[in-house]
Amino acid sequence: RGLDELLATLIRDVPDFPQPGVVFKDITPLLADHEGFSAVIEALAAPGRDASGAAAVDKVVGMEARGFILAAPVALALGAGFVPVRKSGKLPGPTHAVSYALEYGEATLEVHQDAFEEGDRVLLVDDVLATGGTAQATQKVVEACGAEVIGLSVLMELGFLNGRDVLTGLPLHALTTL
Ligand code: IMP
Repeated sequence: RGLDELLATLIRDVPDFPQPGVVFKDITPLLADHEGFSAVIEALAAPGRDASGAAAVDKVVGMEARGFILAAPVALALGAGFVPVRKSGKLPGPTHAVSYALEYGEATLEVHQDAFEEGDRVLLVDDVLATGGTAQATQKVVEACGAEVIGLSVLMELGFLNGRDVLTGLPLHALTTL
């Protein structure tokens, strides 16, 4: 099966979750399918390779929580380290934090200040790009540590929410766009 077919058959629409009117994209069937999971990890890792196919990033960042599931195996595939960007109050050491607006209210993302070496090349990985707020905040906290964000890989871009437009200067690699 090709990547497009795997994504089309193994990502499930759940209407009215987590609230009425939202169609939630559920990736758990994809994660449970070995062929689908491995094909997706290789595809998400591609922006972290140079033209010859050699790995060209130092760290892979996953955004809590589904981003962790994808970013950790991408890091291993690229011979890179994994760094979690977490919701507020979860990391034990000194952090850099960025707050950003949600549809209702505000959220804060944090990363350990010592998670990167100065100038580290970093690939961000998440499951879904919606409004782009999460990705933008993640880029800010990683850059506050002195690292360089080279791109964002996502399984799925919800194109109608125009998240791509807020990611100025951040190359986006989406395996599929709705
Ligand atoms: P954004 O900040 O609006 O771009 O939302 C992206 C974040 O919300 C990501 O971390 C996603 O995991 C999560 N998200 C938004 N919509 C969905 C969905 O339909 N399925 C799974 N995750 C979603």
